[in-house]
Amino acid sequence: MQAPLPPFRLGLTGGIGSGKSTVGQMLVEAGAALIDADAIARSVTAPDGSAITAISQVFGSEFINAEGALDRDRMRSLVFSDASAKQRLEAIIHPLVSLATQSQAQTAVNAGHSLLVFDVPLLVESGRWRAQLDGVLVVDCEVATQIERVKSRSGLSAETVQGIINAQATRAQRLQAADWVIFNEGLPLDALKIQVHQIMRDLSCKV
Ligand code: ADP
Repeated sequence: MQAPLPPFRLGLTGGIGSGKSTVGQMLVEAGAALIDADAIARSVTAPDGSAITAISQVFGSEFINAEGALDRDRMRSLVFSDASAKQRLEAIIHPLVSLATQSQAQTAVNAGHSLLVFDVPLLVESGRWRAQLDGVLVVDCEVATQIERVKSRSGLSAETVQGIINAQATRAQRLQAADWVIFNEGLPLDALKIQVHQIMRDLSCKV
């Protein structure tokens, strides 16, 4: 009997408003398992999250709010004034996020998924992700389109959206990290879906 092939671990990233979540949903509809790195990162610092006890021990109970979650505003001010605090916080959070991510990936594999899509908004920025992935799909579009999409989705001003974009990796930096690129510009959703399916067919040679 042949051993089962290992799953293909695809990183999915893109700037805000690029259409990354839309592509992620299309991949799921086509049979992939989606693992949301942001949601996992938030969950470890949510009420009763796995990082709460350690954060309280290392930083003090005043960093945990009445609901039992990380007090983000307080931590943000500390991290802003003390660079080593950021390292200490990351030393708590990153291993727990890795553990939870691996556990979700294993659950997906046990359920029979051979394509695992890791939705990582800051994949290029964080650096530590690349080694855990077999390939990276970048969803790209013009900055003006990002701004228009996010403005109409969230009601944020163009200046605020531009500020978020400025804090993210540049398009060129993301494209450099890409094994596949979807240029989600002027594409009707059904044309976008055709591109997503093409990449899945491409991947099925490897999965
Ligand atoms: P991201 O996850 O990258 O921030 P989303 O997938 O949420 O972006 O897309 C941002 C907005 O743009 C959403 O409202 C989405 O429906 C819309 N959108 C994305 N791609 C297209 C497209 N090709 N055609 C029409 N609307 C799109």
